Amino acid sequence: MQLSELRNICLKCTDCPLHATRLNLVFGSGSENTDVLFVGEAPGKNEDETGTPFVGLAGQLLDLYLEAVGIARDKVYITNILKCRPPMNRDPNPEEQAACMKYLDRQIEILDPKIIVCLGRISAQKLIDPNFRVTQDHGKVYRIDGRTLMGTYHPAALLRNPGCKGDTLRDFEKIAETIKGVTENG
Ligand code: SF4
Repeated sequence: MQLSELRNICLKCTDCPLHATRLNLVFGSGSENTDVLFVGEAPGKNEDETGTPFVGLAGQLLDLYLEAVGIARDKVYITNILKCRPPMNRDPNPEEQAACMKYLDRQIEILDPKIIVCLGRISAQKLIDPNFRVTQDHGKVYRIDGRTLMGTYHPAALLRNPGCKGDTLRDFEKIAETIKGVTENG
């Protein structure tokens, strides 16, 4: 299956109530021929309006970190656990997460990335460890099912807690190093 076919399936999805309140599906964007996948939590207002992940203030902050460590945004793929916006940007509930995970699982299967970077707690708890705590576990490197995974702060959390920006920059430096190591050495 191609990502475009999966996107068409998502467009028709009514497996959780969020399809009824979203403006646009936010399926994912970036290179489909990449070793690197970034996974956030759920679309926000700007993402819902444009259909593109990480384009609001949090997305602009993500762009700054990517640029600071030399990761080209158009050379990676970026998506979220949820493809539709939860109203008022509330946390996606467990039922919504469970309903939507199958699409992320398929995206991972199709893209087959060597490294997955989880942005925020919800993504890291889904993909790395249900007990992942961002304050303790950010920047650590995990090997799961033949892939390398890392987790760091969600950029939206940094807008609320700017005190974590230094840690996040160090995480991104490590992410860039890890990408280099993983992609050069297989
Ligand atoms: S959030 Fe996911 S499961 Fe819910 S309607 Fe949208 S695509 Fe379907």
